[in-house]
Amino acid sequence: MQDVSKQYGKDAQSVVALDRVSMGIAQGTFTAVMGPSGSGKSTFLHCAAGLDRPSSGAVYLGATNLAELKEARLTKLRRSRMGFVFQSFNLLPSLTVEQNITLPLRLDGKPANQGWLEHVVGQVGIADKLGQFPTQLSGGQQQRVAIARALITRPEVIFADEPTGALDPETARDVLGLLRQAVTDMHQTVVMVTHDPIAAAHTDRAIFLVGGRLTANLDAPDATQVSDVMAQLRRAA
Ligand code: ADP
Repeated sequence: MQDVSKQYGKDAQSVVALDRVSMGIAQGTFTAVMGPSGSGKSTFLHCAAGLDRPSSGAVYLGATNLAELKEARLTKLRRSRMGFVFQSFNLLPSLTVEQNITLPLRLDGKPANQGWLEHVVGQVGIADKLGQFPTQLSGGQQQRVAIARALITRPEVIFADEPTGALDPETARDVLGLLRQAVTDMHQTVVMVTHDPIAAAHTDRAIFLVGGRLTANLDAPDATQVSDVMAQLRRAA
């Protein structure tokens, strides 16, 4: 992201949700995006993922400048070169687990590589659930399906928005372990919005937003360090 700003609304009612954010995310790393409520985390994720367009500045995925793409190309790019994991899983209830996982490929008219599908579902631990429907699964299992769906296209980056927000602590730890494994073992790149210091402790780097500005970052963060920085930022705010 180069000098990315995002302003909502105009004039007196306008809100600067992102304020000249410049940063790079290296391939094969796990990054936590943190900050108090209203600090711009969602806006950061939406701009980085091309779900929203910055008011100014540029966002690159590799050599592709997202700002130069029309909506249809951007949609295709998101489907083929990015993966998404959401707090609420966002699986389609009328599709089986296997159909949910392979949906991004089918929307692009590509066949699923059976070997890769088996590898991915084996990695996330849902190989025995492929014929089931999402409503037959627990929250943790549904999030595993969502992670498999994110991995199936071998994307350049996976964006995760509070992926453990709807899960109990033990299931959350398993899901974070899977995201960690996707980075360490499958050479994926994961960018995760979270407010949870324990979740951030699974990452390689935590970045902190306050009032839409990047204000701090921690490499190889542990939960105590993250909590301390959050407390400092709250006091300063
Ligand atoms: P966070 O995810 O850290 O809670 P957001 O990115 O959602 O923060 O919001 C950052 C700021 O931008 C907040 O002040 C929020 O009220 C404002 N904002 C976010 N989305 C919109 C929108 N669609 N219209 C107007 N203001 C918005």
